[in-house]
Amino acid sequence: MDTVLWIVIPCYNEEAVLPITAPQFLAEVHDLIGKGKISDQSRVLFVNDGSRDGTWEIIKTLAAQDAHYLGICQSRNRGHQNAVLAGLMEAKEHADITISIDCDGQDDITAMEAMVDAYHDGCEIVYGVRSKRETDTFFKRATAQGFYKLMNRMGAEVVYNHADYRLVSARVLREFANFKEVNLFLRGMFPLVGFKSTSVYYERRERLAGESHYPLGKMLALALDGITSLSTKPIRVIMALGCFVALLSFIGVIWAVVAAALGKTVAGWTSMTCIICFVGGVQLICLGVLGEYISKIYLETKARPRYIISERTYQDEP
Ligand code: UDP
Ligand code: MG
Repeated sequence: MDTVLWIVIPCYNEEAVLPITAPQFLAEVHDLIGKGKISDQSRVLFVNDGSRDGTWEIIKTLAAQDAHYLGICQSRNRGHQNAVLAGLMEAKEHADITISIDCDGQDDITAMEAMVDAYHDGCEIVYGVRSKRETDTFFKRATAQGFYKLMNRMGAEVVYNHADYRLVSARVLREFANFKEVNLFLRGMFPLVGFKSTSVYYERRERLAGESHYPLGKMLALALDGITSLSTKPIRVIMALGCFVALLSFIGVIWAVVAAALGKTVAGWTSMTCIICFVGGVQLICLGVLGEYISKIYLETKARPRYIISERTYQDEP
């Protein structure tokens, strides 16, 4: 089979886990080559996302050991999404299909075979979906599931329980390259490209070594970024909220006038304070949401590069 597969793996401070998982990725590639599903030209591409530990040295050593391993290095840490994008854009020049996956072994590497099969059946995008999250802590599971529900409520279409483990064909990547935004939320952007897609289910495991880089704070930031990058629904929601509050205020005014006309006015300190506080709070929230969009516009108008590759483990032809 002459389908060239590149596996794209973002790595940030992963020296603990990389020596364990790298051979697993390579074994999977050899397995798929052996079964005649992909070409021997297939590669495992590590994207070092400005790690501060020995990750890049490990990647360089791996690349020297086996021609199937490749590495590119970002000039500094830019975050998971940008690292994946850098790898995918690199791969689209050389590969027919790419599979992006985290380097910590949480996502079932053997699910790649089903993904490649789905591609051979005509799908251009194959989403890896976690069927169970039993190995996640209760907190991680609850917050992650809340994240997907919130995303969908807010109008950002995402595949439930799909993170960034997915097969994408070079054809889709060429179209995807025209999505020029700098605020990246890949799992919400690929469905926008269209083409035939499907899902492959797998069980998510525990991280093999090292620590998660997505604590609650970062996950909330990602959710907020995802929503405000993909959907303008929050603006509609505050519009509706504004109408509702205006209606309430209108009723309040009538009530106040009627009360005054009936001569029942007492020093209405409590109600006054409540109204001022309530309206003030609502206004601040609305301003915050608007500010979020304005800051996005600000970043987009700058159109800064989304990734900068400083080094490669290969020169021209990988
Ligand atoms: N990662 C990255 N840059 C970052 C943070 C994370 O490239 O700034 C990579 C990390 O090495 C891993 C993947 O993104 O391969 C997912 O991170 P992690 O496993 O820590 O997140 P979790 O699975 O806990 O949500
Ligand atoms: Mg992980």
